Amino acid sequence: MAAHILSGNAIALKLTERVKENVEDFKAVHGIAPGLTVVIVGEDPASKVYVGRKHKACLDTGINSEVIRLPETTAEEELLATIDRLNADAAVHGILVQLPVPRHINAEKVLERIRPDKDVDGFHPMNVGNLCVGKEHLVPCTPYGIIKMLELEGIAIEGKRAVIIGRSNIVGKPMAMLLLARNATVTVCHSRTKDLAEVCRQGDILVAAIGKPEFVTRDMVKPGATVIDVGINRVGDKLVGDVNFGDVAEIAGHITPVPGGVGPLTIAMLLHNTLKAAEIQRM
Ligand code: NDP
Repeated sequence: MAAHILSGNAIALKLTERVKENVEDFKAVHGIAPGLTVVIVGEDPASKVYVGRKHKACLDTGINSEVIRLPETTAEEELLATIDRLNADAAVHGILVQLPVPRHINAEKVLERIRPDKDVDGFHPMNVGNLCVGKEHLVPCTPYGIIKMLELEGIAIEGKRAVIIGRSNIVGKPMAMLLLARNATVTVCHSRTKDLAEVCRQGDILVAAIGKPEFVTRDMVKPGATVIDVGINRVGDKLVGDVNFGDVAEIAGHITPVPGGVGPLTIAMLLHNTLKAAEIQRM
């Protein structure tokens, strides 16, 4: 195996320690702790696990954390009323509605209801717009964590060719904006991209955010490239990424594992964003 493995766990720990120190400073200045409220609707098992991890991470960092659990049958109006209440609560600095929400609820409407300065997921159109014009206020946690990892690992972005597979609003598109802002030459691929392997082979940095187990194989990777695997796929009782790790690690320069790669960074950046939201509201 040639590639250097990028440990998301180790980097997340570093990032979280930094947030913890800054939370202490925030408390000393303002006399209150930053507060995050996560709303989960329904019983999706993966979502429950993610919410549990977020809650614990907040408490470990000195951030107040509340989880509101609503039943699967919750009406859209009721969820919107919950968000309105949290928007008006000065002790709640960050609001996150865990996705996916049940089918009868319009996720877009829900995300747009969250006050932009409390939108710690960075999914509100105002925050998306800010990102597009180069103002990085509250930035989606997963791509932001990836940028922090590249920076901390000393992996150059400027002037590099970055190829992203996936164009979701959560990962692919914000990833493209963040890399572009750091002067990479960015290509975004999706399910209609022609000659995908050939396009991917141009990437000095290759980000896979597809949701298909072990989709990326060595023939799609430029030797020496940095390969970031965002995917989380359950195959039997195993979690695997979107990259065939064993195969690709033989030719990549750097690679993230699954689990222990991008996942922990996402949580670290949620903590970062909660503190940032609290600071914005206190300015
Ligand atoms: P989406 O399903 O929203 O988007 C998947 C993207 O992949 C789409 O743009 C789709 O193209 C593209 N795609 C699908 N099939 C192909 C194909 N054969 N060739 C090229 N492109 C293809 O997924 P997300 O962005 O929300 O998530 C991606 C993965 O990342 C999932 O496994 C998810 O669980 C994981 N994830 C992990 C996080 C973490 O913290 N580690 C956080 C968020 C997500 P098109 O637009 O044309 O349909």
